[in-house]
Amino acid sequence: MIPVANPLAQYLAHRGEIDGAVRRVLAGGRYILGPEVEAFEAEFAALIGVRFAVGVASGTDALVLALRAAGVGPGDEVVTVSHTAVATVAAIELAGASPVLVDIEPAYYTLDPAGLEAAISPRTKAVIPVHLYGQPADLEPILAISRRYGLRVIEDCAQAHGAVYRGRRVGAWGDLGCFSFYPTKNLGAFGDGGMVVTDDPELAGRLRLLREYGWAERYVSSLPGYNSRLDELQAALLRVKLRHLEAANDRRREIAARYIEALAGTAVEPPRVRPEATHVFHLFVVRSKARDRLREFLAARGVGTAVHYPVPVHLQPAYRGRVRIAGPLAATEGAAREVVSLPMYPELTDEEVETVIGSIRAFGGDARD
Ligand SMILES: *Cc1c(COP(=O)(O)O)cnc(C)c1O
Repeated sequence: MIPVANPLAQYLAHRGEIDGAVRRVLAGGRYILGPEVEAFEAEFAALIGVRFAVGVASGTDALVLALRAAGVGPGDEVVTVSHTAVATVAAIELAGASPVLVDIEPAYYTLDPAGLEAAISPRTKAVIPVHLYGQPADLEPILAISRRYGLRVIEDCAQAHGAVYRGRRVGAWGDLGCFSFYPTKNLGAFGDGGMVVTDDPELAGRLRLLREYGWAERYVSSLPGYNSRLDELQAALLRVKLRHLEAANDRRREIAARYIEALAGTAVEPPRVRPEATHVFHLFVVRSKARDRLREFLAARGVGTAVHYPVPVHLQPAYRGRVRIAGPLAATEGAAREVVSLPMYPELTDEEVETVIGSIRAFGGDARD
């Protein structure tokens, strides 16, 4: 079976370097927040083009700590999308605030700026645009609206390491940018990890306190904090992978270009790339009105698929009827019915890509209802 994602293939591709980093850390005697984390933070900040990067324990924690550092908490509303990984919405509630969910732009699957403006209330404190599937949200209007209403912008970049919008990396546009290093992400650890980036020294300072019990000085908390630290092993392994990120994203784009070219004229609808963006194709998501039959057909031919995401957050049992939605979320609910993710990772061979394409072509016109 050709899987949708394959972190093992990336380990095997860089095995020597990765094994070397593991031995270096194990023999180094520092295991949490040491020199590897510091070096990785500096290298990651340089890639994104910001002054500060603060390593934390996961992408979810990155969002929670970013919200807390920005002063968002109980009584505040945070606007984001319902078509996202549930972590985006969970993080808002973990910070004590209330999510307000808006619709997506149907062509790009990212936060609709018009929906943002309509969702703003006197309690709104922040907005979290999600760069879903590796595609930047339309940051320029989102930032313009946010400035007008005095909102903090916290980018959810968990699926978009290295993606570019109008010449600048995502994560460098908002007040804070949040990344996940979950193993299947474009930059993936061998366990959990996350990062918050910012240009603001005050926010960076608060993040460093929050991630370790609010300690300014060891064993003395200056504010109530968390335990959300990045460990040395993950940081060392991520430093190896970071060196290969641009090449890996290039290969993802190459595969995407071949898929898009080959799927024209078939019954599945390929993704669209925003003209002002460089997409990093964390996922390659197509649409089909016959999704379930398509998935079965592909599985029988050894082609794995997944659905990101089958149930919008506002319709999930944990949130349904409880979380505020700003108007009908028609594009969100439409996407949830039709999206399907095809295999996408840098180590896919050209032959495997052609197998995926050939299988979709064999499904043929069948996909039209
Ligand atoms: C993966 C992901 C997260 C959460 O990251 P974890 O490291 O799994 O906590 C948040 N938002 C989005 C969009 C994600 O894809």
